[in-house]
Amino acid sequence: MPHAAISHPRIPTDSFDTDVLIVGAGPSGLTLATALATKEIRTVVIDRLTEGANTSRAAVVHARTLEVLEPLGVSRRLVGLGLQAHRFTIRDRDRVLMPIGFDRLPTVYPYTLMVSQAVTEQVLLQRFVELGGTVLRPRALVQLAQDDAGATVTLDDGSRLRARFVVGADGMHSTVRDAVQIGFSGGSYGESFVLADVRLAGGVPSDEVILYFSPAGMVVVAPLPGGVHRIVATVDDAPDQPNAAYVQALLDERGPKRARATVNELLWGSRFRVHHRLADVYRAGRVLLAGDAAHVHSPAGGQGMNVGILDAARLSEALIEALAGNMPALDAYGAERRPVARQVVALADRLTRLATVRPALRGLRNLVLSTLARLPRFRNQLAWRLSGLVYR
Ligand SMILES: Cc1cc2nc3c(=O)[nH]c(=O)nc-3n(C[C@H](O)[C@H](O)[C@H](O)COP(=O)(O)OP(=O)(O)OC[C@H]3O[C@@H](n4cnc5c(N)ncnc54)[C@H](O)[C@@H]3O)c2cc1C
Repeated sequence: MPHAAISHPRIPTDSFDTDVLIVGAGPSGLTLATALATKEIRTVVIDRLTEGANTSRAAVVHARTLEVLEPLGVSRRLVGLGLQAHRFTIRDRDRVLMPIGFDRLPTVYPYTLMVSQAVTEQVLLQRFVELGGTVLRPRALVQLAQDDAGATVTLDDGSRLRARFVVGADGMHSTVRDAVQIGFSGGSYGESFVLADVRLAGGVPSDEVILYFSPAGMVVVAPLPGGVHRIVATVDDAPDQPNAAYVQALLDERGPKRARATVNELLWGSRFRVHHRLADVYRAGRVLLAGDAAHVHSPAGGQGMNVGILDAARLSEALIEALAGNMPALDAYGAERRPVARQVVALADRLTRLATVRPALRGLRNLVLSTLARLPRFRNQLAWRLSGLVYR
C-alpha cells in the first residue's frame, strides 16, 4: 500500500500549523489555494522558487477552465488580459482537414483564451493574496511523514510544518509523490518539443489556433496577445535555444505554403522533452496529488495546465468535505479525476501520433480526417472535448 510508506519517524499529532499544506505555487497549487481561501480554510502554500516563473509555457485556457475559475473571481480578469480564439483547425499545409468552431458552445466563454501561463499564474496569485493568502518562498519540501491524524513536512531550511492534509502540486518531478512512493507510470516520446514566441507577418490568421500535420512532425501556430504567435513543434534533435532562422525553417517546411508566414522577431525560445505519465493513485493517506505531479502528456490539444486547474478545483471540494469528517470524499476525487487525465493523455497521444504518421500513410490519414470533418456531430464532439465542457 503506497500510503504505508513513511519516510520519517512518527511525530506527535496534537497541534497543526495549518489544515492544508500545498506544495507548489504553479497554476494547480494556486487554484487550489484560492478555492480554499474563498471558503476560509487555513492553507499554507510553499514554493521552492524565489518568485514565479516568467516564461510563457502553457498558452491556452479552455472554456471549462474559465467556468471553474469564475466563482474564484479570476476568469473576468484573465479574459481581459487574453486573446479570444474562436476556431481551431487541423491542416496539412494550406489544406484544412478539420475545422473546429467554439462559437456555438453553450457557455459564456465560447472560445479558447490565449494567454501566457505567467499571466495566468499572476492573476491567480493576485486573487489569493487579496483573499489574505501568502506563498512562502523560497521554501522546498525535503521530507514528509504521515500518521493517522496528519502529515509533518520538513523544509530545506530545517523548519517543520504540520498539516491535516498535504497536496503535492509540485510538478512533474514531484517530491511529494516520491515521498509517499506513488508510481508515475508511462514513458517519453523520442522527439523533443521546440517552443518559441515570435512576431509573424502574413500566412496565418490572428484569431485561430492551427495544428499543422506534416511528415517531418507537427507544428502548432497559436496567437497570443500583443501581436505575438506561439510556435510549438515536434523535432528529433532540437537546439537548446532555437533562433529565428530555425523557427522560420520549421514553418517553411511544415506550415502555410501559399502565403509565407515570416518570422520577424523571436522573443523567447526553448526546448523540452515530453513524457506521457500518470500517477498510479492520486491519494496516499493524507497526501494528495494534483496537476503535473499526477499526469503529464504531449502539449497537443493544449490540455496540460487546464487539467491541473480542474483537478485543483475538484480537490478543494473534496478537502472541504474531508475536513468536515468525510474522508471517502478524497477517494472520490481520484476516482473522478484520474480517468479524465487518462483520457487526456490518450487524446494528446493520438493527436501526436496522427501528426507524425509516415509519408506512406499521410494520404489515408488526410482522407479519413476530412471525411470525419464533414460530420457536424464529430466536429461538435471534438469541440466539447477540447474545451473541457465534456467534463462538466
Ligand atoms: C517549457 C515548457 C513548455 C510547456 N508548454 C506547454 C504548452 O504549450 N501547453 C500546455 O498545456 N502545457 C505546457 N507545459 C506544461 C504546463 O506548463 C504544465 O502543465 C503546468 O505548469 C502544470 O502546472 P502545475 O501547477 O501542476 O505544476 P508546475 O507549473 O510545474 O508547478 C509546480 C511548482 O512546484 C514547485 N516545486 C517543485 N518541487 C517543489 C518542492 N519540493 N518544494 C516546494 N515547491 C516545489 C515549483 O517551483 C513550481 O512552481 C509546458 C511546460 C514547460 C516546462
